[in-house]
Formats: sequence, C-alpha cells, structure tokens
Amino acid sequence: MPTKDPRKRAAKQRRRYHRNPAKARARKAAYRTKNRAEIQARDRKYHADNRDEVNRRARTRYTKKGRPAKQLNFPPNLLFPEVFSRHRRDVQYRTLYKITLKEFEAAKAAQGNRCLGCRRDFDEPGMRAVADHDRITGEFRGVLCNHCNLALGHAYENPVVLRNIATYLQS
Ligand SMILES: [Zn+2]
Repeated sequence: MPTKDPRKRAAKQRRRYHRNPAKARARKAAYRTKNRAEIQARDRKYHADNRDEVNRRARTRYTKKGRPAKQLNFPPNLLFPEVFSRHRRDVQYRTLYKITLKEFEAAKAAQGNRCLGCRRDFDEPGMRAVADHDRITGEFRGVLCNHCNLALGHAYENPVVLRNIATYLQS
C-alpha cells in the first residue's frame, strides 16, 4: 500500500535511492519510459496552467547556491565605472596584444613610467601610454607614448626608414 502523504512518500523514495542509487535510477528510467505520454501530458498541462511562473523562473538568473541572483538597477558599467573600464581594457589588451592589463602596467613600471622612444614621463600632459606591438606577429614589444607609437607606424615600423630620417635630420 503506497503512502498517501507526499512528504512521507518522498522521504521513502530518498531512503530507497540511498540504499541503491543505480537501482533507483533504473527504476525511475523504466517508469519514465513506460509512462512517457502520461508524463509529457502532465508536464504540458503544468506549463500551460503556470505559464507566467514557469517563464519568470526561466528568465531569472540564479546564483550557484540556487538562490535568485540580486537584480541590478543599473548596468555594471554605470554602477562600477572604474572596475568596468579596467575590465574592458584587460579584454582589449588580451585580444589585441596577448598580454593582460596587469602585465602591461608591470612593463610600464619596469620602464620607469617613461616612453621607450622619447623617454618622456607618461604622466606629463599630452602623454598617453600605449602598448606597442608587432603588426605581423601581434607580439607585444613595449610601452610607448602615443606620439612615438604613431611615428613608428608612419615609418612602416621599418628601422632603415627611421635611421635614414635620423641621418637626414642630423645632416
Ligand atoms: Zn614617446
């Protein structure tokens, strides 16, 4: 005689499951196969009767512990602009130069916060530190100011051209 009280029945099923999980799973699979049409009809009816609730649950984000995640009133880029802009730069550096933002900052500090070309301090007005990279391999080379980086690009990243220009200037 099966127990009528759903809680007692669930407890009984749990006990049976823990006695022999493989057997319990097989029993459940067999039950599902045998009563497939009935179960599907029941699920469909439940979905139809509780459409709003089912959809709300499907749309809700849940945390790892299964609780509904806290809803933010504003997008994270407005709530935490500094964190978000750092994150965006990190993604950009990883994809474009194959380095992390932290690696970029470490390289900049190792250069004494100065451009490798003009040797000016990056904190001087009008200076912007950029990641110089090989256009062919994509390899990060070093931190330059935006002026020197552009100069390199305009000279086709070609040392011969740059040397010729230096010689021309000095003659
Ligand atoms: Zn420079």
